[in-house]
Amino acid sequence: MISKIIAEDLIHKTLKTINQVDKIAIVVHVGPDGDAMGSSLAFWHYLMTIEKEPLVIVPTAFPNFLKWMPGSDAVMVYEENKEACDKIFAETELIFTLDFNVASRLAMMEQAVMNSPAPKILVDHHLHPGNYAAITISYPEISSTSELIFRLICRMGDFSKINIACAECIYTGMMTDTGSFTYNSNKPEIYTIITELIKIGVDKDAIYRQVFNNYSAKRMRLMGFALYEKMKIYPEYKTALITVSSTELYKFNYQNGDAEGLVNLPLSIQGILFSVFMREDTDKIKISLRSQGTFPANKVAADLFNGGGHLNAAGGESYQTLTEAIRKFEEALPDYKDFL
Ligand code: 5GP
Ligand code: MN
Repeated sequence: MISKIIAEDLIHKTLKTINQVDKIAIVVHVGPDGDAMGSSLAFWHYLMTIEKEPLVIVPTAFPNFLKWMPGSDAVMVYEENKEACDKIFAETELIFTLDFNVASRLAMMEQAVMNSPAPKILVDHHLHPGNYAAITISYPEISSTSELIFRLICRMGDFSKINIACAECIYTGMMTDTGSFTYNSNKPEIYTIITELIKIGVDKDAIYRQVFNNYSAKRMRLMGFALYEKMKIYPEYKTALITVSSTELYKFNYQNGDAEGLVNLPLSIQGILFSVFMREDTDKIKISLRSQGTFPANKVAADLFNGGGHLNAAGGESYQTLTEAIRKFEEALPDYKDFL
């Protein structure tokens, strides 16, 4: 038995709302990651088993290393098919918004989703949920939205409807949002849930291989280059910074998702508690921040880069040049010394 985390009235309201509709859209944040895809596809599989008409719509493309996920072929990418997606948002009867807390995380899809007459149900584990949803299922103490989806389906009385495809998606999100159970993963119930997923038939080792041992040689060389040439260490602040320009990314034939995981690597250096990665995109600098212990990566993301996230894993963006963003970061570093 796992404990009842989600409040009873939220379960009732969600169940009642689902029962009243057929067409259900599921949306996630821009730049979908393993948990965004895991939670949305898991819920998509579940809604199919209860004979609804669900559709997963993501703002931007998801990385290649998630393309093996069952159901991923049916996912619609807003950026690539705006007209069709706008029509769906105008006609759908219900929208689940998964793995993000505020509407701005939908980026260019925000207006279409928020202007839709369909009620929204938020299911998420980030701090400070916005108030756009009719039902807000927000539990920041849970390490992934995919785990919340497992809990939600079970509490709606449908554990038996979790098929292997659904279970694989749930496992993927739980695994990726905890860095393969290396952070934010000390709650025993995580492993009770994994036991259930394995009983359903999930091959957890195969999922690890699909996600993490599936990169191109170019991506590996980009990692090597970034670590060897582009990593700066600030020993007095127990901090590492890696920055990569768009020209450098081009040289390594950068594909969506290729830099995934790079930000974590400096944390394996003895004494490093805070690691930041800046990637120059076409119109902005995308920033990933990771920390160990109590150092608040999300505070730095919010203070400096208009972002947020979790204590140990956060993100943000900058519309300055890469050089300016680096300078801003370096100048601010002393302000966070007390957290070390
Ligand atoms: P990543 O570095 O993998 O892109 O993101 C790590 C975490 O930071 C994610 O859980 C995500 O929710 C959060 N995050 C990433 N980018 C942003 C951003 O631009 N704004 C906010 N508020 N959170 C972000
Ligand atoms: Mn997540």
